[in-house]
Amino acid sequence: MRGWGSCGWSSILRSPTLATTTMLDFDEKLIQTCVDLAKSAVQHGEAPFGSLIAKDGEMLVTSEQRVIRDNDVTSHAEIVVMREVQKLLKTNDLSGYSLYTICEPCPMCAFMARELKFDRVVISLPSPSFGGLHRWNILEDQELAKFTPYFKNPPEVVINVGLEKAAELYNSLPLFQRMLPEELRK
Ligand SMILES: [Zn+2]
Repeated sequence: MRGWGSCGWSSILRSPTLATTTMLDFDEKLIQTCVDLAKSAVQHGEAPFGSLIAKDGEMLVTSEQRVIRDNDVTSHAEIVVMREVQKLLKTNDLSGYSLYTICEPCPMCAFMARELKFDRVVISLPSPSFGGLHRWNILEDQELAKFTPYFKNPPEVVINVGLEKAAELYNSLPLFQRMLPEELRK
């Protein structure tokens, strides 16, 4: 993982690196949808998480967090969309697809994303405490693909997309404000 621990947040609050403006526009728009889903989750008494799966900017499935409603701790927004897309497409190979989420996926969701072989994972907020990237580096772990071809090479991870609106939501929720890097707390 790049720079974490020695250099602090400045090194990992990296900007999107995609080449085309079009893809950046897709990412901003789709992350905004994740923020809206997270707001809806809060209104339903859930934690502020929302996720969707898209291909070339076209949404296929969306979900907000459903842990409380489902009485199921695995009903993270990302898991719900990953379950649904497999049923929809009748495949468990999501090569060519992108997973979008308001907050860096936890280890459970990150590992599932690796099993599904996404090309891209697009994230707004980093999660240093619970993240499957910054805490455990599952999303970018090269060893998985070396161990077995079942795992493809890591997806492209784009983080800090649409930070302002996502951080605004987390800043309004004291429990989740603590998840934010200090410089995003207001
Ligand atoms: Zn999760």
